[in-house]
Amino acid sequence: MPARSIEQIRNLCKRRGFVFPGSAAYGGLGSFWDYGPLGTELLNNVKRAWWRDVVYKRDDVEGLDAAILMSRKVWQHSGHEGTFQDPLVHSKKTGKPYRLDKLLSEQQQPVVAKLFQAVVMQPSNDSRWQDFARVLTYVTPEEAKDDEYALAQAIAREQSGSYQIDPSNRDAYVNAVIRLLNKSALQPECVAFGVTVDAIAKYLVRGSSQNLLTSAGVVERGDTGQTANAADWTEARRFNLMFVSHTGPVEAAAGTAEELASRVYLRPETAQGIFMNFAHVQRSLARKIPFGIAQVGKAFRNEITPGNFIFRTREFEQMEIEFFIKPPQFVREGEKTDVQWHDEWIKQRYEWWLGLGVDGQRLRQREQAADELAHYSKRTVDLEYLFPEFGWGEVEGIANRTDYDLSAHSRDVPEADLKRLKLEPNSDSVEKFDYFDPDAKARYIPWVIEPSAGATRAMLAFLCEAYHEELTKEPPQAEVEAIKAETPAVIKNAQKKQKDAEKESDPSKRKRDPAAIAAFCTALEEAATRLPQSLLEINALLEDHPGAQNLEPVKKLLPKVGKLAEDCTRVVLRLHPTLAPIKLAVFPLKANKAEIVDIAKRIKHQFQGFFRTVYDDSAGIGRLYRRQDEIGTPWCITVDFQTLEDNTVTVRERDSMQQQRLPMDQLKDYFLTRLHM
Ligand code: ATP
Repeated sequence: MPARSIEQIRNLCKRRGFVFPGSAAYGGLGSFWDYGPLGTELLNNVKRAWWRDVVYKRDDVEGLDAAILMSRKVWQHSGHEGTFQDPLVHSKKTGKPYRLDKLLSEQQQPVVAKLFQAVVMQPSNDSRWQDFARVLTYVTPEEAKDDEYALAQAIAREQSGSYQIDPSNRDAYVNAVIRLLNKSALQPECVAFGVTVDAIAKYLVRGSSQNLLTSAGVVERGDTGQTANAADWTEARRFNLMFVSHTGPVEAAAGTAEELASRVYLRPETAQGIFMNFAHVQRSLARKIPFGIAQVGKAFRNEITPGNFIFRTREFEQMEIEFFIKPPQFVREGEKTDVQWHDEWIKQRYEWWLGLGVDGQRLRQREQAADELAHYSKRTVDLEYLFPEFGWGEVEGIANRTDYDLSAHSRDVPEADLKRLKLEPNSDSVEKFDYFDPDAKARYIPWVIEPSAGATRAMLAFLCEAYHEELTKEPPQAEVEAIKAETPAVIKNAQKKQKDAEKESDPSKRKRDPAAIAAFCTALEEAATRLPQSLLEINALLEDHPGAQNLEPVKKLLPKVGKLAEDCTRVVLRLHPTLAPIKLAVFPLKANKAEIVDIAKRIKHQFQGFFRTVYDDSAGIGRLYRRQDEIGTPWCITVDFQTLEDNTVTVRERDSMQQQRLPMDQLKDYFLTRLHM
């Protein structure tokens, strides 16, 4: 069974040097992580496996490494400056920030969430009213009358700050919006979800998300049994996820012309660097369409609610491909269409994950629904991994982005295309990212298929998939029964502490959290029914639950569990050998026998130029094997006394734990073949 919890992975990562909290000496910095020696190896291996698959193994993809900082104009024309934002609210009780759309959808208000997302996230440039009108087309019948359209325009303009609705007319606007919404298909859904159309309308016109939240009955996460109250929430505001910095020495106040002139953003995706270089790569390598550009690199998003360890962080790494293809009207008989290219990439990328050991039961292709899609996207399929605890999470998105991106950065795009793509003319760009197609004898702006994966998120998925706790041998029955017999005493004692904690009526004064103790008791009771398989689980519960080690019955029980777990279980990372941070560990059977040590070190030196190899003599062989299992090392070699006689060594395989003797001169073939080197 793969990992049961993210906590297991987080603990392992810290214990064994994969991932550490960033800036730890100063109390950490929200959701920034440092990759330790093993994490660096694993992450590098993920990126290398990707690069090998999408660049080396193909004839039609080139690599790129663009600068992280780019002109602000890139982000203006890509739409990020105006739209790469989430709706942010704070709880007034706890001060915690929340993404309003997530809050709404978590609390069974998907319709409102969608509407809200669409409304709050209006782009802040002049074209935003079009998007706003799009929202109103979602909530109104297609044949919205001209005056209704004008109304949408007025409201949207006001939200962008470029127009002020006469305050004395506000109620008229509210009423008009209510009329629109009442006519719309949204109305019955609103009723079903208990949200009043009135509250939505007021939000649309007055921007009061507090009303909307109350109407939708939204309470703070974990705050069960509370009634929703408008005063619990701050008003929502649009929060741009891009980190701002400046080039050169600037002391001007934010928003002034001087500040804006030097402003740069830490890139929130690597893709734009690829679009900027489309023409460079195409011309310098004389590439013909179709071809792709691949890039791996850091991306930064000031996420409102990062979390789940390295799943959502503010600094992360992406692996992105922009694959440039012919627009549909230029595709000739026998050539692949955009639809076929898209399908092919979805298949290939899905298979990449499976090929590196992810079980198909935990990897799915999820079609983005029409209202999730960006307006320019023809189709997007997300690859999702089934993470422990929080469930399905996107690890890669594969989008058909049409000709939106290259058109957005091009000057002199024909009016009709601008209209189709909802773009403003770009007079800042000096380029037109078009391509002369020698077969079609025509110029066009290529379409793009974009497979975009997170490298750090992939690392988490691979770790979760690979993590296994298992018995290495059957523990003595009597000892297992003794542990079973002692757990009720632990539970009874813990329940007493729970009752004591509950006696304190003011939750802020409680030393222990009664709910956490109750969860501990339930987990322990359940795990005890699965002994001996659950030995490691019980060990972790007793060791890690705050305060558990102070309970008298735990003081007695923990050493017994620990000893049995040590003797009869192991944690093993069944990582694909390609991903394993260390491929080979070499041990001498006796650390004080010079000839044996010498041979072991020589074997290490023989392989360390090919792949990460370590030498270890710091414990007995059994413990050394277990240490390597825990970090996913696929092979261990032990040099012993027999080696001195016949030049053979023991090669032990991680997953099967099988050992075989191999002559030393066959080792090179053995490993290089298995690693496809
Ligand atoms: P999400 O819905 O999870 O925020 P997204 O749809 O915004 O992700 P994309 O913009 O499509 O993500 O980015 C492509 C990939 O980059 C994602 O599939 C994910 O693997 C990775 N990614 C995106 N945001 C983060 C983040 N904050 N931390 C780690 N990885 C991320």
